[in-house]
Amino acid sequence: GTPVLSVRDLVVGAKTPQGPRTIVDGVSFDLHQGQILGLVGESGSGKTVTCRALMRLLPATSLSIQSGSIRLIDQDIAHLPEDKMCQLRGSKIGMIFQNPTSHLDPVMRIGEQIAESIRFHENASRREAKAKAVDLLRQVGIPDPQSRVDNFPHEFSGGMRQRALIATALACNPGILVADEPTTALDVTVQAQILRLLLDLRDQRGLAMILITHDLGVVAQTCDSIAVMYGGRLAEIGPKRALLREPRHPYTARLIACQPGASTGYGLMPSIPGQPPSVNAFPSGCRFHPRCDLAIPICQQEHPPMREMAQDHFSACHRAEDVVPLRTDTDVNQA
Ligand code: SF4
Repeated sequence: GTPVLSVRDLVVGAKTPQGPRTIVDGVSFDLHQGQILGLVGESGSGKTVTCRALMRLLPATSLSIQSGSIRLIDQDIAHLPEDKMCQLRGSKIGMIFQNPTSHLDPVMRIGEQIAESIRFHENASRREAKAKAVDLLRQVGIPDPQSRVDNFPHEFSGGMRQRALIATALACNPGILVADEPTTALDVTVQAQILRLLLDLRDQRGLAMILITHDLGVVAQTCDSIAVMYGGRLAEIGPKRALLREPRHPYTARLIACQPGASTGYGLMPSIPGQPPSVNAFPSGCRFHPRCDLAIPICQQEHPPMREMAQDHFSACHRAEDVVPLRTDTDVNQA
């Protein structure tokens, strides 16, 4: 079917003390109804900036969309005026964040915050909005929502606060949810519960989701497809299983090898040699070349174009055919 979100050649520029920089460079992907896309990369890879750009939540003084399109259902929102965008945010596309505490007002009751979000988009009375808030809290698994609706954020645990934030994001029935490291601040048990909740919401509501994370384990548990970013560009994108079992980019193969479960036998996790590139000094050609075992001379000169290696599985590597999985015994491959 037609994608609910279609991003094409997105370029985001930054003003830095060293001059203008391109920090997201030519990112393209589609998202379909009911699909969960994992957007993976190290910090500085451009994954969060990409998602801020499609929510149109870039800090105006430092970052801006330079070119490309962001098609939300049937409308290009890349340059939509803020008053129009404001209506779409929440009603068409919702967002949850890593740290729910900083996105909840500490002096406002949980129910009031959800109700406010409902009343911003819908013509509901206070009473109706509160009833809906109770229902939403129930849907996100808050026990005893009838009384919990009057709690303040500090009366909720970390996991419950994230559930409350999810309820707020869902208040106006968006078809798309963008989740930026939604479980990173939570302990492992709670993390699994929140991921389960996101999967249930996808099943019940047909929500499409973009899950931004540095954690391939989270992606393996939750996502249908995976996009890997490196140095502001997409390195690889494809169906989860294919990408984890047969990565077609050396960086993805390394990331998989560095997951827990891929132990070195000394209790240490292997890591990718070298440093992630800095936006102020992106390497020429393929940005991964200083760290790549497979690099050949052309890699330093020419940016590798995206090529389709198998159905819906694309890689931006001059030597995509030569990539072999480094490990097959990791947890992510049990997914
Ligand atoms: Fe490595 Fe070259 Fe492929 Fe880049 S294009 S990932 S340097 S082999």
